Amino acid sequence: MGDIKGDNDDDYSAYRLTCETVDGTSLYTSKALRAERGILVAFTTREGGYSRTPYDSLNLGLHVGDADAAVIKNREALCVLLGLDPSRMTCAEQVHGSVVAVVDESVAGSGAMSLKEAVRGADALVTNLEAVPLALFFADCVPVVIVEPRHRIIGVAHAGWRGVHANIAENTIYGMVEDGAVEPADMIAFIGPSIGGCCYRVGEDLIKKFAETFSHKERWLHGSKLDLPALVNDQLEKAGIEPARIFSCEDSCTSCRNELFFSYRGDGGVTGRQAAVAAVLPRRDSGNTNDLP
Ligand SMILES: [Zn+2]
Repeated sequence: MGDIKGDNDDDYSAYRLTCETVDGTSLYTSKALRAERGILVAFTTREGGYSRTPYDSLNLGLHVGDADAAVIKNREALCVLLGLDPSRMTCAEQVHGSVVAVVDESVAGSGAMSLKEAVRGADALVTNLEAVPLALFFADCVPVVIVEPRHRIIGVAHAGWRGVHANIAENTIYGMVEDGAVEPADMIAFIGPSIGGCCYRVGEDLIKKFAETFSHKERWLHGSKLDLPALVNDQLEKAGIEPARIFSCEDSCTSCRNELFFSYRGDGGVTGRQAAVAAVLPRRDSGNTNDLP
């Protein structure tokens, strides 16, 4: 794949996320990463799908009280849109911990159709298997997708304040470099829609907890509002990913843009979940998909 964009090419701006709308479903994706590297990264919104209020309408979370049938239908529709096999979608339990699970063939497809089969105790998933989409679900917490395009390894992490505090982004990178053959310097990272430093007001106790762990308070605290995406960005850089290879969705505070995103706070606690999805596509499917999001 290196013949299209050399591994030493330092212009990675083509990999930025853009918002695409197909058949009434809007999602953020890196078109160039898919076309050039055969790796899919997508962050969904609440648009599209079949769920009813208060889960309207592309709710992808099975754990929020929505009808399971609607969620499965939504997942299947999303997979059709993205050219993925819904039965191979692999999901984690998401317990606000910092455990990273490596997805091998024995757990591929876990949690695709049922919550209780999701990978236990994990908040991040890593794989190098082709055609095994990793999917985690969000409504304010920070979605992080990390890609090592040369060896085609992907990681997806769920970072709420507990995950950020426990540095799950860095743990995910460690999970990807386990065999020592890959390095953070070769990775590209994507930070999806989450509640921003504009809206995430927290109590004194939490601010104190963060101040004990993180320096440069001005980077991540605005009055009494915590900027989790800024902290995640700093953690990715500190772990060795170049700033030019870290991409965020523009204008994507889930609380500010509650019409476009599910927001736990913005919706008063009962709401749906958008997804962060990543997949290593089979090589034969790569490079011929510019028409897909
Ligand atoms: Zn906001």
